[in-house]
Amino acid sequence: MTDIHIKDAQVVTASGVQHGEITMSDGTIDAAGPASAVPTPSNPDTVIDADGMVALPGATDVHTHMHDDELFPDGIDFASQTASAVAGGVTTVIELPTQTPVTTPEAIQRKAETCSTLAHIDFGLVAGNIQDPDIDVSGIMSAGVADFKTFTADPYLASDASIAALMRHVGDAGGTVRVHCETQGLLDDARSTIVSDDPEVYMGSRPLEAELDAISRAGYFAEYADCPLHVVHISSGSGAREAGRFKSRANVPVTLETCPQYLAFSKEDVADKGPFLKVNPSLKSDAERERLWDAVQDGTIDLIGTDHFPTYRETRDVGWDDIWEPYAGLPGVETMVEFLVSEGVHKGRLSWPRLCELVCAAPARSAGIYPRKGSLQQGTDADVVLIRDEEYEVTADDHTFVGGWTPYEGQHWSARVDTVIAGGEIVAKDHRVRSTAGRGQFLNRPL
Ligand SMILES: [Zn+2]
Repeated sequence: MTDIHIKDAQVVTASGVQHGEITMSDGTIDAAGPASAVPTPSNPDTVIDADGMVALPGATDVHTHMHDDELFPDGIDFASQTASAVAGGVTTVIELPTQTPVTTPEAIQRKAETCSTLAHIDFGLVAGNIQDPDIDVSGIMSAGVADFKTFTADPYLASDASIAALMRHVGDAGGTVRVHCETQGLLDDARSTIVSDDPEVYMGSRPLEAELDAISRAGYFAEYADCPLHVVHISSGSGAREAGRFKSRANVPVTLETCPQYLAFSKEDVADKGPFLKVNPSLKSDAERERLWDAVQDGTIDLIGTDHFPTYRETRDVGWDDIWEPYAGLPGVETMVEFLVSEGVHKGRLSWPRLCELVCAAPARSAGIYPRKGSLQQGTDADVVLIRDEEYEVTADDHTFVGGWTPYEGQHWSARVDTVIAGGEIVAKDHRVRSTAGRGQFLNRPL
């Protein structure tokens, strides 16, 4: 029996857009495509007249920081943050370690169990943050995790030799290493030249060249070690070009990620938003931002994740007086889809299929969960997002996110996430979440 029948939608996949319908039952897609190709269900539980809205596969965000009891304050946990995700059309998240290390099979199992009791949506995990390469790589992979995160910068700086050894071990085992690319020596020297506490000096402490140097070296390390590489949160067009150079010559798989904040903001915006744009890597120039859009358009960048990092508004406000005080990081999981449709698709920078590739198909492939996630193929998980055209001013008051702020406050957007379906259930409508914590499942990555 059909659970949901969506009619009159513009159905988007990575290969095209078709006016059509979607049917689903028992949590999976039965059919999606032109009405002539979708058998009419006899007695669906729910019929949604999409009235011409766009239907995308649910988005997968491969870069989120949502659960760390040692670090995040009360109220910020995997329940509240996956609720924020689903409100914004993200139906799968990959959770990365923050302060608490997740570097053993037992730690993976514990985190998977805890997060399962809290998750509104399906999720995967990443191992990290790895400074000592002497870890049980195959045990971690057997526990369902094939991605390993390491850093070229504080506070989780790993030595060159440790990164090389980690890549050898992970490459041998068939996993992927994800690298935060900023060279600590350049960050140290740049910081030593700054005496002010003003928010506008922060970008000077994390220069573009630190990113370029670390990206370039991560590429050589991956080739040396014969290890698949994922470069997280590339913050500049030049960084994307640098990474693109080794992606095209590399003899190992390379995926490149950027985040909405690097497409939305440049360091010129910090005069207005101050500590609410403190993020690592830092924002770069407006010219770099424009070049990054080019790299997203031309396929140099493979996918978009958010690097979602939740904090309360009060803990950021202190940064107006002392920018070194608050944590770096921005909430973004709830705004990614609406931002990319409003500023990307509606402004002619991205086609709908390219958007689908960037936030649905490519992230799911990168996480090892495609086509179960990121497609609308028959038999895959019934995760669907309906998006409507609407002009509005962005405000955190409209969001599910509990932190009470968004860096996009006051922007004028033209796309709204209308309805979100996960596993064949309507889990959010107009940013109001209907699902309950604990319905999401750990995606033990198939090997
Ligand atoms: Zn991150």
